[in-house]
Amino acid sequence: MSDNMNDMDQMQLFNDQGRLLNAGLPDEEKALFCDAAPQVDAPYRGIWEKFLNWARSESLWILGFGTGCGAIELRPLMTSRYDMYQYGVQPRPTPRQAGLFIIGGYASVKTMKRIVRSYEQMQGPKFVLGLGSCTVNGGMYWDSYNTINRLDHYIPVDVYIAGCMPRPEALLAGINELKKLIKDGKGENANKYAENFEWYKGNQKKIIKDWNMPDYNW
Ligand code: SF4
Repeated sequence: MSDNMNDMDQMQLFNDQGRLLNAGLPDEEKALFCDAAPQVDAPYRGIWEKFLNWARSESLWILGFGTGCGAIELRPLMTSRYDMYQYGVQPRPTPRQAGLFIIGGYASVKTMKRIVRSYEQMQGPKFVLGLGSCTVNGGMYWDSYNTINRLDHYIPVDVYIAGCMPRPEALLAGINELKKLIKDGKGENANKYAENFEWYKGNQKKIIKDWNMPDYNW
């Protein structure tokens, strides 16, 4: 065994509560990883919150997660026929710039870890759209050993779009519905996630067996 491996063995990896410490990271990198649990974002007062909700609803920057076959219906929205840009919707390359997480189809046991991590990396206010029947109830994979049935047991879903597979028009209708919810001040599921975090975490941990990750260890 190498000296490095011996060093790793002697390093304290967990604190008293069993949480993984970022001990193996250089000091300058530790600050890059936040291990704080999600917090509730209190609304601004009165007219400010209304104005911000209007702005949020008209500038939905999406992170498209193509977990299943239905994700292919996201691409036509970028073409001139559907032109999602005219509605203030545009794709972003990283969770940290995105406010709308679109799960494009079934979520498998293997992808759940990536879904949760991507959702956690998004900054609030953030919203989730479940695309396709598989996200609602498992769809045609409802009794598969390797897929989860209800996405909203693991991350909070603001709008579901049923269908197998939903057409781009349905996706636009779902985005429109989400816009209305946000404008009405009802896009509060990220706060509900923070409030009921123990419940979500319990469900996630039933699925994700190899849980320890330096930046996600609560
Ligand atoms: S709902 Fe249909 S199209 Fe969408 S991921 Fe499931 S099987 Fe594929």
